[in-house]
Amino acid sequence: MKKCVLILLISFLAFEVGAQKKQGKLNKENIAIDYLTSSFTTYDQLQKKIWSTPELGFLEEKSSAALQKHLSDNGFTIENKVAGIPTAFIATYGSGSPVIGILAEFDALSGLSQDTVPYEKAVVTGGNGHGCGHQLLGTASTAGAVAIKKWIEATGTKGTIKIFGTPAEEGGGGKVFFAQDGYFKNVDVVLDWHPASENSVNISTNLARISIIYQFHGIPAHAAANPEKGRSALDGVEAMDNMVNMLREHIPSDARIHYVITDGGGLSPNVVPAHAEVSYYVRAKNTTELFDILNRVDNAADGAALGSGTTVTKKRLAGAIYPILPNKALSKLIQKHFERVGGVQWNEKEQAFAVEIAKSTKTSVQELEKVRIVKPYDENLFGQLKSGSSDVGDVSWNVPVGSFVAATFVPGSSGHSWQNVAAGGTTIGTKGALVAAKVFALTAIDLFSNPKLIIPIKQEFEKLRGENFKYTPIVLGKPELNYRLKK
Ligand SMILES: [Zn+2]
Ligand SMILES: [Zn+2]
Repeated sequence: MKKCVLILLISFLAFEVGAQKKQGKLNKENIAIDYLTSSFTTYDQLQKKIWSTPELGFLEEKSSAALQKHLSDNGFTIENKVAGIPTAFIATYGSGSPVIGILAEFDALSGLSQDTVPYEKAVVTGGNGHGCGHQLLGTASTAGAVAIKKWIEATGTKGTIKIFGTPAEEGGGGKVFFAQDGYFKNVDVVLDWHPASENSVNISTNLARISIIYQFHGIPAHAAANPEKGRSALDGVEAMDNMVNMLREHIPSDARIHYVITDGGGLSPNVVPAHAEVSYYVRAKNTTELFDILNRVDNAADGAALGSGTTVTKKRLAGAIYPILPNKALSKLIQKHFERVGGVQWNEKEQAFAVEIAKSTKTSVQELEKVRIVKPYDENLFGQLKSGSSDVGDVSWNVPVGSFVAATFVPGSSGHSWQNVAAGGTTIGTKGALVAAKVFALTAIDLFSNPKLIIPIKQEFEKLRGENFKYTPIVLGKPELNYRLKK
């Protein structure tokens, strides 16, 4: 009997010590939050450094180096040039499981150069700019990871934090090559965010996307003297585009097809064009529909070549992307910590800047208030289809991904706009980035402290992905490293 009581007492004490230990670790989460609060200047400078040298996809040498240096200075081990991409990296701290990943982007957009003023004014006319806020994206992910590392170090917790430095989100599909090379295989959960003009978790899905180049080859000839000898490659392109425009009526209404003529075949009307090129994007809500539409677009190309007496070559570019697979369990956990962090609080100067930006988009001052709050979780939005595409999609079919957005821009501004470059480059951007970093820190600390939270996240992921799912990229191949250098 006595022995029994003793065992019970020992078990109770062990349980208490365990619970206190867990509680102690969670109490120490202030180490991470205080670090971020007191490091505002550090991360303001880091994001502005990347903002000031906006680099296009796969060419982000300085931006990638700046993030790698900060992570390395803070004790992370860096593996660079991963997945066949010179600017890609993985930074790791800690050991053992769970393994939590955070995605970090840093590429800019062409033609969006803009100063940090609330009216349109390029720094370099026609230059690049951070219209999607990826300088904030990479900086906040890095800041969050360093804060988590400080907590791991202070608490002696087991687990690994990995930052995936993923280049060329804007059209290059950088993350697809990480997925293709298996870099997410031993990762339990991936956390992701994107700059925006509100604070919310993202439980919607989006469109799969593939990029295809059609090159038509004809026969050159004098357009007046020997037209019968010529075959126009431009006729091939035009016939194809006409057919695709008819096809549009007979595809699912949420699918998208867009094209640009990247080579019109010449400059002189009196020369029958021997070559012409058209570049297409096809988007659809799943890969089955994507391939169905793609085959019909290919048929249009073949038909156009036959009719115009030309030939056509087709190139499906690697970096095609899956739609995002959201995860309720992980999103709810992020929501819980997002509400603890709260929204973005602008000071008077930031508010005045935002009011000026809002005038340019005819947005009311009341509308700006939404940056201060975190949107409530709305399960009805789960799986809602949004018409864009992101290479986070491929990550989400390999490992459960939780995504959220934080307010770094002024409400009412469009994506990829001068307004976003301007606001993102000021402390408005940095404040939103630090909110995101705190959400990363609290969520990861919770997962490290309670690894059991990962079980339902993984179960939901497996169920949604379907039994026997095996990931293969939509197009197997190497990254188009020079896609931003062309023409
Ligand atoms: Zn973008
Ligand atoms: Zn973006």
